[in-house]
Amino acid sequence: MEKKLINQVAIVTGGSSGIGEGISKSLALAGATVIVNHPVATTKDAAEAVVASIVATGGKSISYQCDVSKEDQVIKMFADVVAQFGTVDILINNAGLQRDAKFHEMTLAQWQLVIDVNLTGQFLCAREAIKEFLRRGVDETRSQAAGKIIHVSSVHEIIPWAGHANYASSKGAIRMLMQTLAQEYGRNKIRVNSICPGAIQTPINTNAWNTPEAYNSLMTLIPYNRIGQPKDIGNLAVFLSSDDSDYITGASIFIDGGMTTFESFSTGG
Ligand code: NAD
Repeated sequence: MEKKLINQVAIVTGGSSGIGEGISKSLALAGATVIVNHPVATTKDAAEAVVASIVATGGKSISYQCDVSKEDQVIKMFADVVAQFGTVDILINNAGLQRDAKFHEMTLAQWQLVIDVNLTGQFLCAREAIKEFLRRGVDETRSQAAGKIIHVSSVHEIIPWAGHANYASSKGAIRMLMQTLAQEYGRNKIRVNSICPGAIQTPINTNAWNTPEAYNSLMTLIPYNRIGQPKDIGNLAVFLSSDDSDYITGASIFIDGGMTTFESFSTGG
């Protein structure tokens, strides 16, 4: 792969599995130094395995434990990364989780945890990234932009999702967060975009693909007739992080095999 992100430093939140793992590996192949963030002591081994596979292919990477929903931990992560690597060029706001329930049975704890990680976590990391981008400004030996933020949202930023009101609300809010940041900091040459995946084969949605029945049912939603892979998202993350996309900011890019074309309308409606 062409080294389009050479000399750039990327933080990937929730980088120890699934989409975050795929993005970490793709950014590293494109030349970035990748900080593979993970939340707790029990995710350290998985994060270290991602780091090891990056290093094995000649890339640069470290793991970093930080719960993105905790302000003090996020501030410390950015300070430590800047101290060790000089700056941060790319933030991939990927960490996320689900706590599914019928809405009338949803507990405040289920609502709050999803909002805290999926939305407040993206706010906290974006804020620290933007402070650093503003401090450094544009350095054209690195990139035409002062910094790039990529929010990992979902098709559920526009598709309502019964039984997942907390999750869909968090992703809908990310759309406005992303667009507002793009508007507010465009003049500072900071680019902010969202990747909106459809169904990607990761641990978050195992029961949607791990039996033939589940997989076939999933395919009724996807015109392109395959589940997505973390590498599909990694390829897009490299593009959005590189100067190839220098005129793209404020965009939600759907990467979903056509899910948002509403497959069920293909035979009627
Ligand atoms: P995943 O469960 O493999 O990844 C989520 C990651 O977030 C895990 O590595 C987990 O350790 C980390 N995480 C959770 N809480 C955290 C916290 N407080 N601080 C730091 N990290 C934390 O699932 P995934 O599918 O790879 O999900 C990644 C992102 O993609 C999520 O934001 C998810 O909403 C989004 N997404 C996934 C799909 C899909 O089909 N897989 C579709 C649309 C959007």
